[in-house]
Amino acid sequence: MFPNPFQYYAPQSSDEIFELLAQYGDEAKILAGGQSLLPMMKLRLAAPSVLIDVNGISSWTDVTEQDHLLHIGALVRHCKWESVLDSRVPLLHQTARHIADPLVRNRGTMAGSLAHADPAADWGAALLALKASVSIQSAQRSRKVPIREFFVDTFTTVLEPQEVVTGIRIPLHHDSGFVGARYLKLERKVGDFAVVGVALTLVLDPHGVVLDAGIGLAAVGTTPLAAVKAESLLQGHPLTTDLIRQVASEAAKESDPVTDRRGSEEYKRAMVNVFVERGLMSIYQDWQRLMD
Ligand code: FAD
Repeated sequence: MFPNPFQYYAPQSSDEIFELLAQYGDEAKILAGGQSLLPMMKLRLAAPSVLIDVNGISSWTDVTEQDHLLHIGALVRHCKWESVLDSRVPLLHQTARHIADPLVRNRGTMAGSLAHADPAADWGAALLALKASVSIQSAQRSRKVPIREFFVDTFTTVLEPQEVVTGIRIPLHHDSGFVGARYLKLERKVGDFAVVGVALTLVLDPHGVVLDAGIGLAAVGTTPLAAVKAESLLQGHPLTTDLIRQVASEAAKESDPVTDRRGSEEYKRAMVNVFVERGLMSIYQDWQRLMD
């Protein structure tokens, strides 16, 4: 299958990108890892007449730290987090190894995954759990959008046609606290998109009180979802098995799956319950072992 003809540009600076976006507007698409855009073009589900390949913007490959925030450049690939385990944000490592296969992970970018806004994307759920924000820029302005306001609908975000994602920012917990995380994914075969994905991150104090909780869900809504009511049950409370069961049941209620060839609505909701309970129990056990 071949895509429609297109013009190809490979700018070397963000100013050049903005000039091209101003010139071509809706006709143009940013090309990052190409792992979603190119298949869509080959299937003729997307037919941009201009591709703006941003892979030449070397500063977008950086990961830096400032003001208790981890800044991840727009061109940082999924595979980066397979080899890096940052104990302050273990969810990145936990999630990366569940995405597709090594070929896709070597090219695909976190920013591309967010901009594509597939409800089943693993980074969507993980970054919701981490309460990240998205750095967005155009020729006119730059803005930071909390990830919880970024997704609008399936394959739709708040990005305007002339805007690009330049990076992602993740809050770092510098206080003394135990940080635990799990990414659990039900897939029909290895490397497939999620039937259900659950991203969990907890910060616990030495008494087991939850200082911060993040629960992100993939493939159970029109966008990746944050289970905010379930999170609020955890916040400020000591973690117990009873509380974990209550939180899992609440997260399942907050999910909004549909029946499709991957499973029924009831089955997916039940799996959210199972995964949230299993993941939180496992984090709790890690914490208990550490305290023993
Ligand atoms: P691209 O394909 O280059 O772009 C995707 C979209 O985002 C385009 O519309 C593009 O214009 C836009 N875009 C890209 N970068 C920017 C930017 N900086 N600013 C503004 N817009 C931008 N994903 C999962 O989460 N889990 C999976 O299990 C999974 N399995 C996969 C299996 C296969 C076989 C394939 C091909 C893909 C799979 N994916 C999966 C998707 C993969 O993770 C993609 O890499 C990711 O969704 C898109 O990232 P990209 O860098 O390749 O973006």
